[in-house]
Amino acid sequence: MIDTARRLLLEARRVAVLTGAGISAESGIPTFRDAMSGLWARYNPEELATPEAFARNPGLIWDWYAERRMKVASCAPNPGHLALAELERRVPEFLLITQNVDGLHAAAGSRRMVELHGNIRRVKCSRDGEPVESWSGDDRPPPCPRCGAPLRPDVVWFGEMLPEEEFTRATEAARSAEIFLSVGTSNLVEPAASLPWLAHRHGAKVIVINSSMEGQRSGDGILQLTGLAGELLPKVV
Ligand code: NAD
Repeated sequence: MIDTARRLLLEARRVAVLTGAGISAESGIPTFRDAMSGLWARYNPEELATPEAFARNPGLIWDWYAERRMKVASCAPNPGHLALAELERRVPEFLLITQNVDGLHAAAGSRRMVELHGNIRRVKCSRDGEPVESWSGDDRPPPCPRCGAPLRPDVVWFGEMLPEEEFTRATEAARSAEIFLSVGTSNLVEPAASLPWLAHRHGAKVIVINSSMEGQRSGDGILQLTGLAGELLPKVV
């Protein structure tokens, strides 16, 4: 299986990759399900990561993201992230599409990349969406230094639209890819979840790398590699 995946990638000139929380698990960043422990165990992520939750209880949502931001800042890319940065250097037409908000792909050196769900390291104004670099005061959330509206993390919440330009780049890459690699994603959160199958319909071979194949599609043109992304990706690349 690993040899087949390696050969497919060696021959490909157009490759698209979709990553999810699983690729960062070995860097110590919990997937959504695992993140709901300790203080946060009584919350459901779908109830925290929404515009409605922020409107209802902005301080709570700010605190949840502040904690996750601190966690992310102390984590480093793992061999899986590094292998994808290396793959990018070898493939003429390449796009890495990530659902992750942790910024670890960029830290590993990935450049041809779209962050479909934003980046937790950034903050923006909740009124006009403009990025904000710094703020002052102890309010949670702090006020926007320009207009006073509450600041919020620069991530896409459940029920919000994906950034249009990024999603267009992702669908175009899926349509034209010869190989589509799906790594560490449960394929539950739409519309990103449909990208591998869009690629498949347009003739791409799909390679799925996941520690569990539960809920993953199988069939013609789909190669499943079961295991840890940080171990499999360096072997495949
Ligand atoms: P998910 O939590 O729904 O699924 C994670 C998938 O990764 C599962 O299929 C699991 O079997 C697999 N997995 C776990 N450890 C793995 C490993 N070491 N190697 C390979 N596979 C592994 O994640 P999702 O599909 O990305 O969807 C959840 C949403 O949560 C996304 O929208 C994402 O934005 C957000 N999220 C992001 C982060 C992050 O930025 N690191 C963390 C948590 C949640």
